[in-house]
Amino acid sequence: MKSKQVIVIGAGIAGLVAAYQLKKQGITPVVLEASNRVGGRMISSSSKGYLMDEGAQFLSSEYSILSKLIEEMELMQDYVETSCLVGVVRKGKVKKFRYDRPFSLLTGGLLNTKEWMSFILGSLKLWKNTRKLPLNNYSAWIEYDNESTEEWSNQYFGKSLTEYFIEPLLEAFFFQRPDETSKALAMAINAFGAHKAKTMTLKGGVGKLPELIAKNLDVRLNTSVNDISLTGNQLLINTSTENFKADNVILATPAPISKKIHTFSNTLENELLSTSYSSTINITIALKDKLSPKVNLSEVYGVWIPRKERNVISAFTIETAKHGDRAKSGELLHVMLSGEAGDIMIKQKKEEIIKMILSELEQYIPSVTKSVAFTKVFRWKYAEPKSQIGRCKRIDNYRKSISQDDKVILAGDYLGMPFTEGAAETGLWAAQNIKA
Ligand SMILES: Cc1cc2nc3c(=O)[nH]c(=O)nc-3n(C[C@H](O)[C@H](O)[C@H](O)COP(=O)(O)OP(=O)(O)OC[C@H]3O[C@@H](n4cnc5c(N)ncnc54)[C@H](O)[C@@H]3O)c2cc1C
Repeated sequence: MKSKQVIVIGAGIAGLVAAYQLKKQGITPVVLEASNRVGGRMISSSSKGYLMDEGAQFLSSEYSILSKLIEEMELMQDYVETSCLVGVVRKGKVKKFRYDRPFSLLTGGLLNTKEWMSFILGSLKLWKNTRKLPLNNYSAWIEYDNESTEEWSNQYFGKSLTEYFIEPLLEAFFFQRPDETSKALAMAINAFGAHKAKTMTLKGGVGKLPELIAKNLDVRLNTSVNDISLTGNQLLINTSTENFKADNVILATPAPISKKIHTFSNTLENELLSTSYSSTINITIALKDKLSPKVNLSEVYGVWIPRKERNVISAFTIETAKHGDRAKSGELLHVMLSGEAGDIMIKQKKEEIIKMILSELEQYIPSVTKSVAFTKVFRWKYAEPKSQIGRCKRIDNYRKSISQDDKVILAGDYLGMPFTEGAAETGLWAAQNIKA
């Protein structure tokens, strides 16, 4: 019998995991990628002795699918913990805490006793109810997808905890506001604590994982898909280079792009494809010098800036606290803009962006401007799918509706948790729906 022809569109982590899984199922797919490299938003590059994660910044020890792939790609020796120290700005000062020592939220001065008690007791109660839910499948959180994070957190933890912990966390990780984000996502992120998750990275950059997965696959770079149509019983995939035929397609591009590529008659798909995204800009700042001990950020890997304290920066990372290989000498910073600033500034000139963020950074790292070796700006129009109320239900309905008759199956982080592991889970799910 002729083997099934499957095309995967998009070589981000969702598409690559889908294709890799298909191979395990006895199908040899072709992966079509518009750009000249694989990884999508999980991508690293190097320049002049500095190693930059242009999109995704961190992995987690609780990323079960990615951890397994890291093992399969023989990358375990490069899969390392980052520092545990996080900083949050309050009253203009960076207050530090170790995420593996909750007491440090109090001793580091971020929270007062009342706030700390509320956070600890509230989290323990939450963990009791949610610790069995999967951290990589958003649709499993459906029963909590009924209220905004802001409403819930103000009531559950109190307003000041929302302002100084929950809001900056959502902006730092997802570039999204609590009033536009379902509490299901905030609760899922909080649940990483119940699992004692550690923040991880890959020596050589997180982009190393998609690169190695792709080596096992037939990936056609610089092949942008224009549209998919049905001719008889086959799909015709029209691209910038040539046309392809397939029995099935896994469409693993961000929702707004997938919407342009294929027209679905089904409302479930169309609702999902209307998912909106937050935007951000990741600004890399390579510094000639190490940070002075006077800056008092030694070992801190990330600083969150709450709305009340920020101009445009939602978070910045200090990359050598992630791993020493990020800067051979000096220091490397990654600055992320809030979703609101990302929307406004996405088309702004590089010089204007750099000027604005350096003046904000000077508050926390005095004289940073004098030490700049070079800067790079990575613009992410589709940074993260927004988790507005109802997204869990839409995903759940779609997943339940899939049958053998569906020729085009969707994948990508907008069908799951809005991070690398969530995207990988959607790829796995999509592939498992195609039988050899
Ligand atoms: C700044 C930033 C920081 C982040 N930080 C983290 C983090 O610390 N930890 C974490 O886990 N996650 C993080 N994320 C989220 C994570 O990067 C994404 O959730 C994940 O990488 C999405 O993978 P994906 O495969 O769904 O989509 P993508 O990575 O976007 O892949 C889609 C692919 O499709 C290709 N494509 C587009 N159009 C076409 C076309 N017409 N034809 C063919 N191919 C096409 C694209 O070029 C791309 O390669 C971050 C994201 C950003 C932007």
